[in-house]
Amino acid sequence: PKFTKSDILRKAQELDVKFIRLQFTDILGIIKNVTITVERLEDALDGKIMFDGSSIEGFTRIQESDMYLKPDYDTFAILPWKPRKGAEARMMCDIYTPDGELFIGCPRGILKKVCQEAREMGYEFFVGPEPEFFLFEMDENGRPTIRTNDKGSYFDLSPVDLGENARRDIMLALEEMGFEVETAHHEVAPGQHEIDFKYAPALRTADNIVTFKFVTKAIAMEHGLYATFMPKPIFGENGSGMHLNMSLFKDGVNAFYDENDRETGLSEVARYFIGGILRHVKGFTAVTNPTVNSYKRLVPGYEAPVYISWSSKNRSALVRIPAARGIASRIELRSPDPSANPYLALAVILAAGLDGIKNSIDPGPQTFDNIYEMTPAERMAAGIEDLPGSLKEALEYLSKDEVIKEALGPHVYEHFVKAKLIEWDTYRTQVHQWELDQYLGIF
Ligand code: GLU
Ligand code: MG
Ligand code: MG
Repeated sequence: PKFTKSDILRKAQELDVKFIRLQFTDILGIIKNVTITVERLEDALDGKIMFDGSSIEGFTRIQESDMYLKPDYDTFAILPWKPRKGAEARMMCDIYTPDGELFIGCPRGILKKVCQEAREMGYEFFVGPEPEFFLFEMDENGRPTIRTNDKGSYFDLSPVDLGENARRDIMLALEEMGFEVETAHHEVAPGQHEIDFKYAPALRTADNIVTFKFVTKAIAMEHGLYATFMPKPIFGENGSGMHLNMSLFKDGVNAFYDENDRETGLSEVARYFIGGILRHVKGFTAVTNPTVNSYKRLVPGYEAPVYISWSSKNRSALVRIPAARGIASRIELRSPDPSANPYLALAVILAAGLDGIKNSIDPGPQTFDNIYEMTPAERMAAGIEDLPGSLKEALEYLSKDEVIKEALGPHVYEHFVKAKLIEWDTYRTQVHQWELDQYLGIF
């Protein structure tokens, strides 16, 4: 860790901190927090703050509901949009049981566990995310609508892009919280934006994604806008993805790069990692694309992947190899969306990639053609399969993938699947507007 306990206590005093939010996510990735006053900071840093975990999704049974929060000192950051006199800070926390064990339902703990496994194989997992989101207007009661506040499109500039002010303030807030924001732009759909920040070790990136979502929502609200990470809010427009750029480093060197490979510049390790991803993607899609709505994004025609393939040449592939080589060598997985719990998503993707390395899984030839222009027969001949088409299908694949289940551990697996099957069932039994429009007048 960069900071010690006394560093944090000193910082809190210097920055006139009055409140500290101890943050964590539930299994579904929803951010939660307990706020304490600065008088309890020392106790908090010692991991002595307790909370009742029984009402948190997927946490625990009533009779063993006491949980302890152990803050990661390095995540200490001031919330820049709050008053500075009596400032508010936050720290991300791990969850511990009263026996002093890392709680098996702690998503952050699960990512740590898989990262540790990678480390034992000599690798550090780095990830750079590209989260997309929409900025919508709110109605007179302050509830979100799906009216976009602009008609902008890809890389448009002001005055078309009214979200620009909000986006700028989001970037400033992120920088104040220690992010290295790399690029930001208007995305293809009206009201859609993307902010990319610098790659970091996976745990830090997962913390950053959680922070990013909560900062974006807070700052958008100050501009009278509602920021949403729902994967496909508008029919007929692009949805929001969260591409993940990934690499493994070994002894400080990018293990995905091989200057002697003429075709792709990728090492054998990178190829096996891709092989593992392609083999397990069906099994982990329920985690990387965890909502009913996620599957409305994964359809042809909206720049989201549908077919299981890899390519260094075209963007329609599920795994794309960006042109950068050397230290920046990486693979880009294009299926995840921002509704995923980032800790669990990175944990299962890493587990898939490591399985590829352990078992030397060959990813097969890359696809050079635009897969969307191939016929189903051509795809079949090329061995290109489809991603799961619904949450239900994805859950079925998950139930058959031992590597992914093992990465999640039985506790999270069971609670996750249970919550998701309820979600699926409520959706399945609803009568949707589409059905009324389609059938009411005919039958
Ligand atoms: N919005 C697209 C998606 O759903 C991605 C667009 C892009 O290439 O950045 O994944
Ligand atoms: Mg994008
Ligand atoms: Mg991308």
